[in-house]
Amino acid sequence: MLSKRVINMKESATLAMAKKARTLKEAGVDIISMSLGEPDFGAPEFLRTAAKQAIIDDYSNYTPVVGLKELREAISIKFKRDNNLNYPADQIIVSTGAKQSIANLILALLDPGDEVIVPAPFWVSYVDVIKFAGGKPVIIETSIENDFKVSAKQVKDAISDKTKLFLFSNPCNPSGTMYFEEELKDIAEVFTGTDIIIASDEIYEYIVFDGKHFSLGSIDEIRDQVVTINGLSKGFAVTGWRLGYLAGPKNIVQACSKIQSQFTSGANSIAQRAAIAALEAGSRKVSYMRDAFLERRDALISLMKEKVPHAVVNKPQGAFYLFPDMKHYIENTKLASVEELSEYLLTEAKVACTPGSAFGGKTNIRMSYALSLEDIKKAVDRIAVALDKLLQ
Ligand code: PMP
Ligand code: GLU
Repeated sequence: MLSKRVINMKESATLAMAKKARTLKEAGVDIISMSLGEPDFGAPEFLRTAAKQAIIDDYSNYTPVVGLKELREAISIKFKRDNNLNYPADQIIVSTGAKQSIANLILALLDPGDEVIVPAPFWVSYVDVIKFAGGKPVIIETSIENDFKVSAKQVKDAISDKTKLFLFSNPCNPSGTMYFEEELKDIAEVFTGTDIIIASDEIYEYIVFDGKHFSLGSIDEIRDQVVTINGLSKGFAVTGWRLGYLAGPKNIVQACSKIQSQFTSGANSIAQRAAIAALEAGSRKVSYMRDAFLERRDALISLMKEKVPHAVVNKPQGAFYLFPDMKHYIENTKLASVEELSEYLLTEAKVACTPGSAFGGKTNIRMSYALSLEDIKKAVDRIAVALDKLLQ
């Protein structure tokens, strides 16, 4: 009775694992959840105040589909201030989370059979939404030794006459990898003079540890073909407010608006009002979160190296995920896949991690370190005991 389109679609693996962890927790099992990508800080006080004020001021009506004008102007200023990006307000559309921005973009661009180049590991929803739209994901493989980075040559080789879009996140979910200015310039060169759209998902922009975040769309030669995606969820710890935004060529923004006008209308009016305060404040009001993530990253890396010696551990430069390669524990035990490994860690260690296969990583797991240092330590201890048992 259901459509083939929906039957063929997978449920988001991050949300599926989070659901499992939540159900076990509710049943009284002491689960430590490293599955969901969600900051654990609570919304900053100044944002809560702004949201309360929006309710008092009775911002209760539908907003324009593309979002409040004042908000789009604040986004335009933020892009200039933080990213050296020149997007006027009429090239910006606000959506119900960056997830909707990405879905809008994919639906707006793809005809059946069109190709989208996606470096692996990739964020879980990219590939399923591309397929949902009838498109074909063309995955570029990377390795942990190269810090999960694609080279310009790999990108060039992946292009065909069907390529419509290149889609990646920087910093990357799930690896935490960051592409820096020089690397992005090399990639930009590949697209210069083509009509391929490049979508840069920068939702972790404020959670950066090593080096400076650089926006691909600030490179002059390709400015007019870059779509930049961002949102409040991660940088401001308001995942449930559902506020994301996209900026790009006018015709693409208009197409996204048409889709959104039929699917959801404008995003939540209270969240939009509060978002103005967030964007005006910028990263300085939330740098305490970034500092805490850095401390946790370093702790998790050294704990994993010390206690889970056969894991190959990467060093993320941003976001709040580790993406270790657990190949040894799959090849040398009864476990047949990384899905089985994640299931084993959930039942035996009572730690929820997301299988890397959901992100295009065959033997990795994704560990979100958006939890306290104490829980991080407890989680690694439990994983170590469970894996030792398995190897005996
Ligand atoms: N892009 C990436 C890379 C993400 O990790 C997420 C996860 N939240 C999103 C987009 C979507 O974010 P949201 O819909 O909460 O704005
Ligand atoms: N982006 C988060 C994650 O990767 C939230 C889950 C989701 O939206 O799928 O865990």
